[in-house]
Amino acid sequence: MTDAWADVAEVPGARRTLERQGRVLREEILGVAAHLAPGQRLPVPMSREPEEDLWHEPLWYARRATLRLTTDFGSAEVVQHIAHRLAAQGWHTSLDASSTAVATASATRDGFFLWLMAFPGLSRADLGGSTPPVLLYADPAGTAIGPPPPPAPPKRFVPPEPVVTEATRKPGHVLCLDCDGIGWCPECLTRGYLLDDSGEKRRCFVCFGSKICQICGGFGQKRLADMPSWMRRQYPPPTPPSGTQRR
Ligand SMILES: [Zn+2]
Ligand SMILES: [Zn+2]
Repeated sequence: MTDAWADVAEVPGARRTLERQGRVLREEILGVAAHLAPGQRLPVPMSREPEEDLWHEPLWYARRATLRLTTDFGSAEVVQHIAHRLAAQGWHTSLDASSTAVATASATRDGFFLWLMAFPGLSRADLGGSTPPVLLYADPAGTAIGPPPPPAPPKRFVPPEPVVTEATRKPGHVLCLDCDGIGWCPECLTRGYLLDDSGEKRRCFVCFGSKICQICGGFGQKRLADMPSWMRRQYPPPTPPSGTQRR
């Protein structure tokens, strides 16, 4: 099995391109973050290794970054302003500021992708993006090929186990209403993409490919005391975790 992969090599310069574009992506993300957290100098967590790009077959690779901000500047107006600014800089943008709970925007330009979700009621904003995907591994003929070991044949999709259940949730916490404790994006369930009518992969419109539940941040549960009252009202009154007996 390994012999077939002996000749597989990185495409010369591809990794350098990814590094360079990763730096461009970081600056773009910081440019957006400057509107949401003025004056803060922020580290931008970047994927250490190039990540598989699900929109290419065979696999191409991209760098990806995600940033979570604590901010009171995440209003729908600010998100709208950011989208307009990006559009003026040549980005193709889409904006949804119709909900009071979350305002979202995404933008593409020259293969770069940026996304933004601001939660005004939570004083929080998440943003991130990815570099243009590139061919990173190829055989000597230049045929695109994944890295060794070869990818297994497509498996049947298995939905994830919940990260927390009624029985394991912490005291004073409730299961996330959005994902019901799964922790992963309830729409795409760990995939980051959805299949459209023709079976094509489309970036998940709920998590923008981050794969994580945007309401609980992947924890699957939320502490009641941390919630604003409008959010707490959406949850049923807490009961003691099952398995514990009240005496
Ligand atoms: Zn999703
Ligand atoms: Zn959740």
